[in-house]
Amino acid sequence: MTMTRRMALASGAALPLATLAPLAASAQTAPAAEDTPRLSHRIEFGNMTINVLLGGEGAGTEPQKTFGLNASAEDFNELSEENFIPADRSFNNYAPVVIEVGDEVILFDTSVNPDSILAALASAGIAPDAITTLVITHMHGDHIGGMSADGTLTFPNAKLVTGQVEMDYWAQSGNETFESKVRPFMDDFRLISGDDEVVPGIKAIEAFGHTPGMLMFMLTNDEGNTLLVAADMTNHYVWSLARPEWEVRFDMDKPTAIATRQKVLAMLSEEKIPFIGYHMPFPSVGYVAETEDGFRFVPATYQFKLAAS
Ligand SMILES: [Zn+2]
Repeated sequence: MTMTRRMALASGAALPLATLAPLAASAQTAPAAEDTPRLSHRIEFGNMTINVLLGGEGAGTEPQKTFGLNASAEDFNELSEENFIPADRSFNNYAPVVIEVGDEVILFDTSVNPDSILAALASAGIAPDAITTLVITHMHGDHIGGMSADGTLTFPNAKLVTGQVEMDYWAQSGNETFESKVRPFMDDFRLISGDDEVVPGIKAIEAFGHTPGMLMFMLTNDEGNTLLVAADMTNHYVWSLARPEWEVRFDMDKPTAIATRQKVLAMLSEEKIPFIGYHMPFPSVGYVAETEDGFRFVPATYQFKLAAS
């Protein structure tokens, strides 16, 4: 019988250290499920199961030119240093979300291309034809890139949902990504506005500014608990929360985006509502705490695990 690493550790108290070491070393060479990259993170949320997907990652340089356009170099450097991150480069991820509720399997946003979103979905054990509804929060390339390729929808059975204001803007923008990814399916979309529900328990909230018609979605489960799928309300977990008034290059209407960010962050911190942010560090779910001059991101850890498990 081969002793597994777990058994060796469990009986470790009775074993001399010299025996433990080779066992641990041999366990590392055996193929194990935990060596597979984890591209999904599951949260049980009352009658809803939330799967946060790691749909892709990207690195950038000169982050102040993206996340702190109106900050002084001194303030940008100081805030970065206080938070143990470099001021001269950034790292970002894309976190689409799948919510299973009743008979519905609802995907929010699609990362940069079909391959990325399909790999992450596979990690969650979800087939592309199982998606019943695809919701697009807004139409930047890292959100619509995976929804289709060459005129073929990645999720063949999905009903399509997005914001009316968002669709109206992009339909007349001449944007290349919109034209190739969304235009062929434009007439199939159900177009919604703030306070409309995707399904009961998932309600749209207008979060204009980042794009003309971005929507966030407030979940309310059967226990009355809430969680916000916040899309790109915040683009960086330090800079956008600590200084919501800093201008972000991707915010198309900067004053409106700043006002939205300040309002939503204040609401999340006051009401202690957890949120999933598309560009928060994976698994991208956490809380907002108020600080003296802004906010900070508090990653969720085991808050959603059942007390007994
Ligand atoms: Zn984005």
